[in-house]
Amino acid sequence: MALSLQDIIPHLNAEIHGNISSKEIDLVSIDSRSMQNNEHTLFFALSGPNYDAHSYIYELIERGVRNFVVHYIPANVELKANFFVVSDTKLALQKFAEYYRNLFSFPVIGITGSNGKTIVKEWLNFLLSPDFNIIRSPKSYNSQIGVPLSVIATNEMHNLGIFEAGISTVGEMNALQKIIKPTIGLLTNIGSAHDEGFDNIGEKIKEKLQLFKDVDVLIYHKNRTIEQFLPSIGIQITSLGTKRRTFNWSFKDKEADVFISKNSVLDKTLLKIDYKKQSFEVKVPFLDDASVENAIQCLMVLLHFGYNFETIENRMNLLYPVEMRLKVKNGINNTTIIDDSYSSDFQSLKIALDFLESQNQHKKKTLILSDIFQSGLSNEELYARVSQLVISNKINRVIGIGETISQYKSKFVNCTTFNSTADFISAFEDLTFENETLLVKGARSFEFEKIVVLLEEKTHETVLEINLNAISHNLSFYKSKLKPSTKLMVMVKAFGYGSGGFEIAKLLEHLQVDYLGVAFADEGISLKISGIKTPIMVLNPENTSFRAIIQFQLEPEIYCMKGLNAFLKITEEKKLKNYPVHIKIDTGMHRLGFEEEDLPLLIETLKNTPSIEVKSVLSHLATSDDLENHDFATQQIALFERLSRQIMDELQINPIRHILNTSGISNFGESQYDMVRLGIGLYGISNDEKEQKYLENVGTLKSVISQIRTIEKNESVGYGRKFVAIQSMKIATIPIGYADGISRLWGNEIGYVMINNQKAPILGSICMDMLMVDCSGINCTEGDKVIVFGENPSVKEIAKKTHTIPYEILTSISQRVKRIFYRE
Ligand SMILES: *Cc1c(COP(=O)(O)O)cnc(C)c1O
Repeated sequence: MALSLQDIIPHLNAEIHGNISSKEIDLVSIDSRSMQNNEHTLFFALSGPNYDAHSYIYELIERGVRNFVVHYIPANVELKANFFVVSDTKLALQKFAEYYRNLFSFPVIGITGSNGKTIVKEWLNFLLSPDFNIIRSPKSYNSQIGVPLSVIATNEMHNLGIFEAGISTVGEMNALQKIIKPTIGLLTNIGSAHDEGFDNIGEKIKEKLQLFKDVDVLIYHKNRTIEQFLPSIGIQITSLGTKRRTFNWSFKDKEADVFISKNSVLDKTLLKIDYKKQSFEVKVPFLDDASVENAIQCLMVLLHFGYNFETIENRMNLLYPVEMRLKVKNGINNTTIIDDSYSSDFQSLKIALDFLESQNQHKKKTLILSDIFQSGLSNEELYARVSQLVISNKINRVIGIGETISQYKSKFVNCTTFNSTADFISAFEDLTFENETLLVKGARSFEFEKIVVLLEEKTHETVLEINLNAISHNLSFYKSKLKPSTKLMVMVKAFGYGSGGFEIAKLLEHLQVDYLGVAFADEGISLKISGIKTPIMVLNPENTSFRAIIQFQLEPEIYCMKGLNAFLKITEEKKLKNYPVHIKIDTGMHRLGFEEEDLPLLIETLKNTPSIEVKSVLSHLATSDDLENHDFATQQIALFERLSRQIMDELQINPIRHILNTSGISNFGESQYDMVRLGIGLYGISNDEKEQKYLENVGTLKSVISQIRTIEKNESVGYGRKFVAIQSMKIATIPIGYADGISRLWGNEIGYVMINNQKAPILGSICMDMLMVDCSGINCTEGDKVIVFGENPSVKEIAKKTHTIPYEILTSISQRVKRIFYRE
């Protein structure tokens, strides 16, 4: 975009510290971790209850950034950069985007609604891209921060904008309306999602409609609920032909501008469209109501743009399911694949590269990239910029696929190119892919999914999918319960509660938690070897592992004199200074820890030990989740207060104190001390029903149907003939069994799996590697997906019915079940 600071600053309403003459800005950033930041970055330091980007300014200056929009100037940096001080940095970002939007005057489609925004946006982009240079929100950037960032990416060559707006409470849409300033409004389905911020549905609709208050035309699914609120944004339904037009459709109401009837034909839906006294037919390759409705919204836009029926038919027929996730998969030869094989535009390339950085599994990084379409830039400039990105993100190798990128090969340092995906595939055997991270990013027409199939490690069909966004969400939820000064340790013991050790740890490091906790030294060592730098506490170190603990800079919990003396022997022999250790006190759990009577000797020993430093003092509650034993927990906390105080006073030290686990945070929030230890809550499980509603499900265990058969009355299923049919029925075999961690107690019709959103009860006993379910009445075929747990059935439900706790279920999922990590 290249703007001068002189043009920008007046719109921020900022107090200027520094010199703004002749500074060019071509990147607006809010992410201190992005490697794309440089001297042409304008950095907005956002802050919230649990984070403050101002604390990274020093680091950013070291990396060359010179211009900051801040709320305050941190100590000791005043003279090193320019600071534009404002009262609210988020607001300043929005003001800047508003100003920037006004530099352009092409049509802009603004989309809001409860469901379908991102899909409609992606489809419109696909349908309209043959004729326009489109700027659109990347992924689902639709928030108070995502929208300004999306709009700021516009450049001179774009001639159509498509932006989505999402809100969670009253008052937010106004800000987004000013930034998007849509000329064409599109309201998708209004459902009950995200209801918390609104008193009622009317309030929610009114707020969403604010986006459309200045549009030339509003496109919507005709219905009375919506229409009764249209006058609130100055639209009268009857005023067809005036400047403020509506353009609506319906399956039922013949008065609608476009009347549609639908029919399913095999795997497609046939739409018959009546418009302006003419009619034509369009086939869309979907059967479900939501997809059909989203496709119709897109069709309405095409009609509004005046496309002829034939073009509409041809393009709509090509709509495809949108994959919005960046998926992380295990690849061949110890590679990690980041699969973003459904889109290729400059903005989403930047996002994918930032994601690549955050998932830094391997030092070596390869980008497999197709031609980039409709960037709005000349190819010369586009590939020069791509090359810049590749350099700043330290990508070692680029594999370009497509005729255009092949022409610009010389812009890249280590680059191989192929004219087509087919050429790449025929050369595949001669290329090496090993011990590296591969970002696969291509426009849909390049069919990069074929490349992903080649690169992917071939596995078992049962997988545990881990939603990394849900982990971030759950972390923020618990952070919001903490005082700003409370530190956070997250427990990643037992392979991250079964969810994946390294991947979770890497994400937590990225989210800047203060400590990680593991049970044994081995777990910590493998995290350190894979590059985790966040301090790691080892809860249960064996004396034999002390040397390795020191070698890998892990921090042991010390819980008895024998351990302390053994550890001291080594630290003294190695002449270490202030090696961090954590002292555990037993306050009633009676598992590990020093008791009150041990303290005098402990304190005496610690007095003369410069080789170690008591980094923290901790204890653990036995009943934090059990309100009937509330008093017991309170006594434990009181004892902890007294004993830890004694240690602090007598040693004259001020260590971090911590006693709360997840349910401790929920139920004993006033005893946060200096740090808390979050465990199961991160993985989406709370034993408080109210709190559970705010958590997102993290793990979904999926399998497939191996075989379907019909059995007759009196035939039995499985070992021991535990199930006998009382009538003819259809059953399916699923390749997952107790060796994968599914308890046999969940068999014999106690438990069920979900097939195509319907319950299929488990019949007979669960086998080692398989189980059988009743799928009579479910429309399904061999190869269909099966959900073993996730949203439904939830791990909590399974735990309850199999007489155990969610912890055991999560950690029992066998290591032979592949974990797949993804981000929405
Ligand atoms: C596992 C563990 C935690 C976390 O417990 P959750 O109930 O999962 O939050 C905290 N502290 C210690 C000492 C632990 O062993």
